[in-house]
Amino acid sequence: MVNKAVITDLIKNFDVSFNILRADINPKGGKMLIEINGSEAEKGIEYIEKAGIDVSPVKRVVKKDKDLCIDCGACVSICPVKAIVIEDDWTVDVNDTECVGCKLCTYSCPTKAIKVVE
Ligand code: SF4
Ligand code: SF4
Repeated sequence: MVNKAVITDLIKNFDVSFNILRADINPKGGKMLIEINGSEAEKGIEYIEKAGIDVSPVKRVVKKDKDLCIDCGACVSICPVKAIVIEDDWTVDVNDTECVGCKLCTYSCPTKAIKVVE
């Protein structure tokens, strides 16, 4: 929580396009998955960091192919950031806002249902 209009200033002052892919914000703070493009993207990211927002670049995440997945759960305990969960209906889901793209789960999957997305 930085109490500044950081995103507005970013768009006003830098040649960037800014796309919010996911947001989980509450009165105490939150997380956003954002895509920043444009000729000044790197400068824009530096600006966000200097404004006090923690930035964790995500180079890749994984996606699960629902048709191939048999919900065996083999990938769940492998994930170091607990991005793969068993839902109430016993299906397995990958939370791509938590995934850091380490690829460990792809090696555990017997049906090759998990693919890396750059
Ligand atoms: S790639 Fe790594 S972080 Fe992402 S879901 Fe698989 S094990 Fe978890
Ligand atoms: S290991 Fe593969 S088949 Fe098993 S739950 Fe994970 S994605 Fe689905």
